[in-house]
Amino acid sequence: MQMVDTPLQIALEEKYGAHNYHPLPVVLSRGSGVHVWDTQGKKYLDFLSGYSALNQGHCHPSIIEALVCQAQQLTLTSRAFYNNKLGPYEKFLCTYFGYDKLLPMNTGVEAVETAIKICRKWAYQHKNIPENQAIVIVCEGNFHGRTSTVISFSSDPDSKHQFGPYMPGFVSIPFDDIEALRHALQNPCVAGFLVEPIQGEAGVIVPTDGYLRKAWEACQEARVLFLADEIQTGLGRTGARLACDHENVRPDILILGKALSGGTLPVSAVLADNEIMLVIQPGQHGSTYGGNPLACAVAEASITVLEKEKMALNAMEMGQKFRKRIEQLNSRHIAVVRGKGLMNAIVIDHSDIDAAWHLCLEMMQQGLLAKPTHGDKIRFAPPLIIMEPQIEEAVSILEKSLLILD
Ligand code: PLP
Repeated sequence: MQMVDTPLQIALEEKYGAHNYHPLPVVLSRGSGVHVWDTQGKKYLDFLSGYSALNQGHCHPSIIEALVCQAQQLTLTSRAFYNNKLGPYEKFLCTYFGYDKLLPMNTGVEAVETAIKICRKWAYQHKNIPENQAIVIVCEGNFHGRTSTVISFSSDPDSKHQFGPYMPGFVSIPFDDIEALRHALQNPCVAGFLVEPIQGEAGVIVPTDGYLRKAWEACQEARVLFLADEIQTGLGRTGARLACDHENVRPDILILGKALSGGTLPVSAVLADNEIMLVIQPGQHGSTYGGNPLACAVAEASITVLEKEKMALNAMEMGQKFRKRIEQLNSRHIAVVRGKGLMNAIVIDHSDIDAAWHLCLEMMQQGLLAKPTHGDKIRFAPPLIIMEPQIEEAVSILEKSLLILD
């Protein structure tokens, strides 16, 4: 590590912070649009975007304006009282996505938990599944967050090992395998199918065209709820409003987070129609911060700018260019280039198992921030406002950095 003044901040985290992350050794202190700056004033292209929470770019002026204005008015009431922002926000989002109702939460994983709870209760009330026997089908390689229920059905040993006992009631099937799903749906106790339309953490695994549509149809036939975790794939990231939109699929339960607040504060949401959402009654679910006026103001601004600035369309166009340019590099160290819109990954082919990490360190030195996922994969997910010259700049940095692997 060559940076001058950064070791202090890193050392503080090392000493006083839990060691639950392994960051790249760069200390950031400012962000604007697709760029971030470190404490030395060095500028980087941000190709991680806060794990896709920053679709609208760093410190988008309209989102920050909404944040600041609302912060000066009212930030939290709890749901013990009404506030003047929640109702209008719920109407706005329900209208935008075409659902009857919204349940507001904070982090992504809370929204996933919420969706699972709603799905199970719906199954007991509407499908007469015997109490405590509801099953949710999930996919191998999934990532839905870090709570003890959610890691219970993870297939990643790091997420899971020694955190048991695990929550029962989940059946895991291979991703992108429609026959496996049809088979699993034969169990009459199945309440729901929880799926990421593209598996993000697993390394941007894009399923076969038509898989989501067929999976949704199979769920409809079996009267099983289709739960789409669009926390990472949603809100323009893949070149459409939702990744499910590419296949004309309307999830029974839609789960959103991350970019719903444009990277400002944790805001998540679960959307569903009345038959499903109204299984939850007062006292049965909630959150102190869920639906707070600050979150509502920011989320409405975040969606508004996505639409106004046509970010999904830009993600589609820039994503195509990005993948094409990487393929043109013809690098022997890149085994695979894949993705949709601006949710992309490359798989590194190298004898050194840490090659992806070394490549990320080199790209960082040259002004491009990206992070490996699961060893040999590097995710590239810049803010959706990125323009062609910045795509070119990133590919050129990647090209130069690849030389260290020769
Ligand atoms: N679901 C998906 C698909 C995710 O990618 C993530 C986070 O990366 C989560 C859920 C969890 O979100 P959070 O970290 O906000 O709890």
